[in-house]
Amino acid sequence: MKFELCTIASGSSGNCIYVGTDKHKILVDAGISGKRVTKGLEDIGVDPNEIEGLFITHEHSDHIKGAGIISRKYNLPIYATKGTWDAILPEAKIGKISPENIRTIHKEVTLDFEGLEITPYSIHHDAAEPVGYTFSYEGKKMSIATDLGYVDRKILKYLAGSNLVLLESNHDVGMLQAGTYPYYLKQRILSDSGHLSNDLAAEALLGIYHKNLEHVVLGHLSRENNFPDLAYVTTKNMLECNGIKVGKDINVSVANKDKVSEVYRIL
Ligand SMILES: [Zn+2]
Ligand SMILES: [Zn+2]
Repeated sequence: MKFELCTIASGSSGNCIYVGTDKHKILVDAGISGKRVTKGLEDIGVDPNEIEGLFITHEHSDHIKGAGIISRKYNLPIYATKGTWDAILPEAKIGKISPENIRTIHKEVTLDFEGLEITPYSIHHDAAEPVGYTFSYEGKKMSIATDLGYVDRKILKYLAGSNLVLLESNHDVGMLQAGTYPYYLKQRILSDSGHLSNDLAAEALLGIYHKNLEHVVLGHLSRENNFPDLAYVTTKNMLECNGIKVGKDINVSVANKDKVSEVYRIL
């Protein structure tokens, strides 16, 4: 039995996540070049031809840049909400996709790949119809929660019971405010439809913590307004202030924006 996740890339400059079981292999987002997707999969010993589906969170380029290329190269079905397709297709953002590879999914409707259950859930982000995903297999659960303007009760409910979470820890508020981004962009990132700060990520994590949450991977870090160590320490402090020991009760790691992560296995 196998149930695993790996970040091929995670950050404001590009996202691509691999999720696999002993029977099925899928990707979430392909916001990096097709070559990097292929190389990342090969680096972790996954044959790109065995990927069965590409699940898109939303239409921003850091999530779809390479989607068309890999769909055409590997004849890969792309799954996205109707709103996301409507934002991608008329703009020809990812080139021509063969009609049989255009698959529409619906929020809160679970797809079942022989026991691997994939559920898209609604997130707050400035895109047409963005979603996060939860994956359940053999009684275990993994969740992807990035590009979150804020975390509400409903999202916490979807993430509840996860054994592993890839959680956005986008920016340090102080760095963002003092940084060089134009005012409108700072406002966009800080807004309820922007990105989750280190502090809010740590707070959200407390909200979903339970004794079987084995691993949190902090991801989608901003290149300009964060440091991996800062994201890590913010979450670690918040957990330890609440009596949760990092390394003992839970493992915390930070996804590298350019490098393939280790393969996290929960089964
Ligand atoms: Zn986005
Ligand atoms: Zn993004």
